[in-house]
Amino acid sequence: MTAPIIHLANAQVIDPTQSDLPRDLYIHDGHLIAKPDVQTHVQTHDCTGYTILPGAIDMHTHLVPPAMNALRTLQNVVIPDAVSPTLIGSPTWLSQQYLKLGYTTAIDAAITPGDAPAARLQLRELAPLDTGFLLLLSHHADVLALLEAQQFEAARDRAVHLYQLSGAMGIKLVNPGSVHATDGPALDVTDIDTAVDGMSVTPRQVLHFFLDLADTLKLSHPIHIHLPQLGTPGSCDATLQWLAAMDGCRAHIAHLQYDCYRYDEDWYLRSSVEDVLTALQRNKQITADVGLVGFGPAYALTSDLALHDRLLDLFGDDAGPALRFQWDGRSAFGLQPLDRDPQNLGYAMQWATGLELILLADNLDQLSLSIDYPNGGAVSLYPQLIHCLTNKSYRDAMLKQCHPAATQCTTLKQITRELSLDELLQLTRISPAHALGLKHKGDLKVGSRADMAMYQTPQCKIQTLSDKPTRMMIAGQFL
Ligand SMILES: [Zn+2]
Repeated sequence: MTAPIIHLANAQVIDPTQSDLPRDLYIHDGHLIAKPDVQTHVQTHDCTGYTILPGAIDMHTHLVPPAMNALRTLQNVVIPDAVSPTLIGSPTWLSQQYLKLGYTTAIDAAITPGDAPAARLQLRELAPLDTGFLLLLSHHADVLALLEAQQFEAARDRAVHLYQLSGAMGIKLVNPGSVHATDGPALDVTDIDTAVDGMSVTPRQVLHFFLDLADTLKLSHPIHIHLPQLGTPGSCDATLQWLAAMDGCRAHIAHLQYDCYRYDEDWYLRSSVEDVLTALQRNKQITADVGLVGFGPAYALTSDLALHDRLLDLFGDDAGPALRFQWDGRSAFGLQPLDRDPQNLGYAMQWATGLELILLADNLDQLSLSIDYPNGGAVSLYPQLIHCLTNKSYRDAMLKQCHPAATQCTTLKQITRELSLDELLQLTRISPAHALGLKHKGDLKVGSRADMAMYQTPQCKIQTLSDKPTRMMIAGQFL
């Protein structure tokens, strides 16, 4: 016997992609369908008083890489209390954190080929949250060795093979062209056309090799790139240089907030959001996730070892154990505990710059909301950050608690914009679905997957997404 059609009747549906919003939704086989001609075998649920939103999508997070598992082991076995229980927990706990906020999909942004089989298994622990992952290929020893030998065709064949074995939904590059030194500091990229010491290929060659690879593989999510000089005063100029190098190409920039800094003429650190947004909007085919940061505990978990070296120099073990894992040239990551205090100049600027990046964007089509969990903090910070985007007086009250640099070196105080619910849905549903190439997610159109969050709360509360949805549905199944 076929499963009944689920009929959600008399709901208030909110979906900015449709001008003529339905009050009734019909679901069969996990997807939304048109109203059936014959109303037999239909299970009707009266949804009077309910508001229904599409499920949210976190397109850049970290769910099950070895680095997260190392944190779980630290927390549970090695040094209990070293890792905040509001930040790190089991995969099941993490899934619950997302579901409570109306998220139905989360994508792990960096799994190496060697870790892919274990990651595929472990992602099942997050069910019913729908998950996927990106394959971290920028520092794979075999691919890099072939590129160094100028054997581009063989490098492409090896990369295609690794990708096809992995089960990934896209390819991630972390500081492409940089070097993971096994002894001494890692080497960051300073110029896209200058090979770093120890390499013969330039960062531009590495970048274009992978952009071409995405075309070969016909990836629906383009190459997903963590840029060089992340979080430094050189990051804005590096970003402009790399965006120019990607002119006309499809690509996605990870956690763009960290790429928007520059010194002014008096050597004060400033956010350069407007320059980055101008360059981004000139390249409409490029998308980015924002990488907001909140205050409180976080763990910087990164395969950018040059970045990890900078964090180690700045913080060491101040906020807990810092760790570095590196083996076989195939996998490397650093773990740096952070405790973001609003009175700290750097953290206050990161918080303000992320908000500024969204609030100054003319349109939000190219931007998706992310906190790069656990780098930007706990998943549970989303409602507070969203509240800052939708309510100026709340945002200003937080700004007052921050180091004065957040007011002096960003334009956040002058911004009056408050995002609407439709704009929030753009950032958390429509843009990430579009950037990931997930044609049947992010909206509630006929044919889309029936992933949704149902609320019985006033719209003003839904606007901050601070309330737990009353009911959730993933792939047509009520949770
Ligand atoms: Zn990340």
